[in-house]
Amino acid sequence: MEFCPKCGAILMMKKTKAGCPRCSYVAKGKVDMEMKEEVHEAVPVAVVDEKGSNVNPITDWVCRKCGAKRAYFWIRQMRAGDEAESKFYQCVKCKNTCRVDD
Ligand SMILES: [Zn+2]
Ligand SMILES: [Zn+2]
Repeated sequence: MEFCPKCGAILMMKKTKAGCPRCSYVAKGKVDMEMKEEVHEAVPVAVVDEKGSNVNPITDWVCRKCGAKRAYFWIRQMRAGDEAESKFYQCVKCKNTCRVDD
């Protein structure tokens, strides 16, 4: 988040631009409105739903764990639109899940 250089209030998102809710300051360009959170790389990604029906497409991918050559594949856009999207592969055999960032 960013603060108003004039009065110090936290900038709010207005229609198309960020601006100060207290004074008339309008930010020029892009303002980071996100609260920064730590990204925990080691957190396993839960992907298989309870019914066990995995609707993700299967693609060619060599599992580093068991050597199987097929994996479920999907892409997840991280919260902010300008962040790189992450690709996920899950081995069809051993369910080993691998995240690949661009
Ligand atoms: Zn202000
Ligand atoms: Zn595997």
